[in-house]
Amino acid sequence: MSTLEIRDLHVSVETENGPVQILHGVNLTVNSGQTHAIMGPNGSGKSTLAYALAGHPKYTVTSGSLTLDGEDLLEMTPDERARAGMFLAMQYPVEVPGVSVSNFLRSAKTAIDGEAPKLRTWVKDVKTAMDNLRIDPEFSERDLNTGFSGGEKKRHEILQLELLNPTFAVLDETDSGLDIDALRIVSDGVNRFSSGGDKGVLLITHYTRILRYIKPDFVHVFVGGKVAEEGGPELAEKLEEHGYADYVGEGAAV
Ligand code: ADP
Ligand code: MG
Ligand code: MG
Repeated sequence: MSTLEIRDLHVSVETENGPVQILHGVNLTVNSGQTHAIMGPNGSGKSTLAYALAGHPKYTVTSGSLTLDGEDLLEMTPDERARAGMFLAMQYPVEVPGVSVSNFLRSAKTAIDGEAPKLRTWVKDVKTAMDNLRIDPEFSERDLNTGFSGGEKKRHEILQLELLNPTFAVLDETDSGLDIDALRIVSDGVNRFSSGGDKGVLLITHYTRILRYIKPDFVHVFVGGKVAEEGGPELAEKLEEHGYADYVGEGAAV
């Protein structure tokens, strides 16, 4: 079993006016085999947590710890975190003109495994994963994220997830901008990924609808840069009915 442990995490973000503290002591433990949903209103710090896990240079851990099987993630570069088994799908993936999807995937796989994948099995694996996600074969020759629609970006994230086969997946708003068919295809991909029972998923979302397709074992409600409440799947149902008003007060912008 693998364990991703977030302990009393405080994170600040670099802004034009200096650093601003966003996370105020987050505690969360994800074991392999578990799916955790992080839900919360806009601006509650959900993406900040994802960026901190990824090692984004603008986000500074001011105190607390992040460990993967006891190893300090904070001592690792983003690449080293990926090699250790972390996968971070960003809410706003970067565009890289001049690098095709297929080259990117192969380089990423090579970097993570420490050796190039065998060409024949790799080509087959890519084809299977793309078929699963109903991605057009021509997509693999497109420039990375350049001119991708919202839905294409999300499918590409899940394509990476399937091919790179990490231990822990952090998926930030994987459901945003998806129509109902795409949501189902993407959710099926996440479920395929976790179906072996040896993967951990941290699913960050503002809306409850993706949780109809991806069943979380645990739900954590994020408010003001902290976990305000946690529970099982029933908590998502409560949020579906009541929204976040109970946590942030009536009339608050969520
Ligand atoms: P969420 O993902 O829950 O919507 P975020 O983590 O994106 O929340 O943002 C939390 C708070 O941190 C917001 O008030 C946001 O404005 C602020 N913030 C996050 N990143 C930056 C940044 N790069 N520059 C300035 N403020 C930021
Ligand atoms: Mg947001
Ligand atoms: Mg966000």
